[in-house]
Amino acid sequence: MDFASYIRDIEDFPKPGVVFKDISPLLKHPEALQKAAEALLGFTGNARVDKVVGVDSRGFIFAPLLAEKLGAGFVPVRKTGKLPYKTIAASYELEYGSGSLEIHSDAIEKGEKVLVHDDVLATGGTAEAVCKLVEQLGGEVIQCNFLIELTFLNGAEKIKQYQKKVLLQY
Ligand code: 5GP
Repeated sequence: MDFASYIRDIEDFPKPGVVFKDISPLLKHPEALQKAAEALLGFTGNARVDKVVGVDSRGFIFAPLLAEKLGAGFVPVRKTGKLPYKTIAASYELEYGSGSLEIHSDAIEKGEKVLVHDDVLATGGTAEAVCKLVEQLGGEVIQCNFLIELTFLNGAEKIKQYQKKVLLQY
């Protein structure tokens, strides 16, 4: 399937000068949604996965789908102040700003195998922060997967110690 035909460019969003990759056309198309989920699933093969971590907020779309198929649990990493229980936090830099992410302190058990999923890998700051949170809780990141990698922002460099899989590269 030509996934790229379901991704649209939005100029100057969320800030002037940024060209935002909008995945909404892919999400609303039943076959594209199904095939994208299947392709992401194929990235882990038969590997054991205990938890799938999805990143606030577009990482929440596919991560639970993957978790359900992999027989794993789903764990949200959220922007600061959104999670109700005890958390640990990590700061990160973004293509358009900076922020802080949190995970529940009991979300991952020591030694668990963790798949990290987000929609887009841009500068890599977000994914790097998420992997550090997982590791702080004693989890092992077995893979980071994304629908889209913006290769010109060199995010792969920030997460080079982890296995990375992507559906589409720009
Ligand atoms: P990074 O930390 O790699 O610079 O940014 C990745 C995060 O920002 C992801 O959580 C992703 O959802 C969001 N992001 C950055 N650029 C884009 C984009 O062009 N399209 C979408 N859909 N998300 C983006």
